[in-house]
This record gives sequence, C-alpha cells and structure tokens, in this order.
Amino acid sequence: MRAHLLGIEGMRVEDIHTLLTNAMTMHEVSERVIKKVPTLRGRTVINLFMEPSTRTRTSFELAGKRLSADVVNISESASSTKKGESLLDTAITLASMSPDILVVRHQASGAPHLLARYLSSTCVVNAGDGTHEHPSQALLDCLTLMRHFGEIPTGKTVAIVGDVAHSRVARSNILALSLLGNKVRLVGPPTLVPSDLAHPRCFGNRVTVHHSLGEGLKGADVVMCLRLQRERMTRFFIPSLEEYARHYGVSEKVLRIHAPEAVVLHPGPMNRGVEIDSDVADGERSLVTLQVQSGLAMRMAILVTLAAIRGAGTSESSEGGAI
Ligand code: ASP
Repeated sequence: MRAHLLGIEGMRVEDIHTLLTNAMTMHEVSERVIKKVPTLRGRTVINLFMEPSTRTRTSFELAGKRLSADVVNISESASSTKKGESLLDTAITLASMSPDILVVRHQASGAPHLLARYLSSTCVVNAGDGTHEHPSQALLDCLTLMRHFGEIPTGKTVAIVGDVAHSRVARSNILALSLLGNKVRLVGPPTLVPSDLAHPRCFGNRVTVHHSLGEGLKGADVVMCLRLQRERMTRFFIPSLEEYARHYGVSEKVLRIHAPEAVVLHPGPMNRGVEIDSDVADGERSLVTLQVQSGLAMRMAILVTLAAIRGAGTSESSEGGAI
C-alpha cells in the first residue's frame, strides 16, 4: 500500500478538510503541559532535506518527536550526494531501512514524485520541490486562516503578492485556496506574474492577475507576501531591489489605503524592506507567528494521517497529490 503527500494538485476538498480537522486536534495537543503523545511509537520518519530550511525542517522534526516516532534527519551537507551518489541511490539506501515516512525537500521539481515511484512501502511527503509545490505550507496557511477567521477559509479574497513565477508556495496556495472556494489575485510585475496565469486552463476561473499593487490589494481579506526567489532566477526579472520594493513592497501605508481590513501572511524567510515592511511584519495584522505554530500542528496531522492510511493497508493514490 502507498499513500503520499506530493502536492495539492489532485487532492480533493474532503482531504483538505480532514487534514485541517486533524491539525486542530494536534494544535490542542501542543497546548498541553505534556506535549508528547504515543501515536507514532515504533514508526520511523526520515527527513531528507537537500535544500536549506529553517521552519519546515524543524517543524517536521518536532512533529515526529511529539508523536513519539523515531526521527532521523539528513541534510545535503551530511549526505552521500556530496560524494556523487544519485538521489535515487540515496533513496533506495534509505528505503532498505524501511522508514514509514520519508519527508523530502529537493531543488529539482518532481524529485519527491520520482522517489514515491520507487519506494514501495514508504509514504513520501513533499516538503518543497524546486518551483513546483510546497503542499504542507499551503495546508498550514489554510489552517492559520481557519484559526484566525474561526472557520475553514472560503469566499475570501486572497492577494498573493510577489514572485509567483518561481514560488512553490504560491502554486500550492493557489490550488488549495481556490479548491476551498476563495478568490485568488496574483499581484506583481509581468516578469514575475505572467498574465497567462489567469487563463482558466492554468488554475481555473477563481484566479486573476494584477500588475498594479493597489488594484490587486483592493478590498482583499488576506494578503500573502512572497520572497523574491533569487536562487531560482536564471535571468534578470526586476531592474533592482529598490525599484521592486517601491512598486510592490507591502507596507502599512499601502494596506491602510487599499486593504484596511486585511490580515497578512508570509511563509518566511522574510526580506524586510523588499517584499514586506517591518511595520507590517511585526504589526497587528501579521499572522506570521500563527503560521509557524500552525506549521507544527499541520505537520503532525500529515504524519498521523499518512501513518493511519498506511496502517489501515488501504490502496490510496500513489502518484497524485492525495493523502
Ligand atoms: N520557505 C518557502 C519555501 O521553501 C518560501 C521561501 O523560501 O521563500 O519555498
């Protein structure tokens, strides 16, 4: 049996609801004095991170530990890929140790999907693959909004501002938020937010593209700021950081004019003074700290949900995004 979390693409709305409900239970566990539960005792989780990460790696590690799993962390610098081993050989080596869950972050889009095809008895979780998807980030963002609004986010207008073209966070969030029935506005310069993204064949008919910050923010309920993914840019997309910040930087002044009621998300790491100003990041409308807390609860929910499917021996989807 195989069950994976490879992306939001292919997930059903019920899958997202289940994960959000399970994450609320996990959040309640994190509020207890003793935060450890025996749910995954005897299970092994390997975190294979081939790209830098602070929040995602730490929260998957802590999630596994709070659930009493045996957790092993491998980073690029400590893995044999440094000695020329291929990703697949690394994975086959790890698979022969029979981990229950393999959490993978990789610079190549599709790497977790490839691993899922070769690992027959391990659940694979995509913790961010190239410019493709970052499903646990989108799920934790939905959980953050659910905790803030007191209900599963639906019918909201969400403006995603910045480097959409290179952002796996944007892609997963567009899919998740529109699946839940929200309107998604993509805001940024044409080089980073191509107009084609609004074509219904891309992400359906809930997505619009805006090249003016004011127009994109107008009346939004939620503003999600994205970092410029300069490590993934192969050519020049903006004239300079200063020019970009002047036109697309989200500041308290801009929000007061265009989206006075909006709350603000940022997946981190933040580049203050570029895509977001400190008065927003540290201000009252910022949900950034809640996002980090929700990240732990959501990653616990993902591990528990996958382990339950695996334990039950059902044959859920192996190639799609569904849990
Ligand atoms: N932490 C997120 C990611 O891994 C966002 C970012 O790096 O800007 O994609």
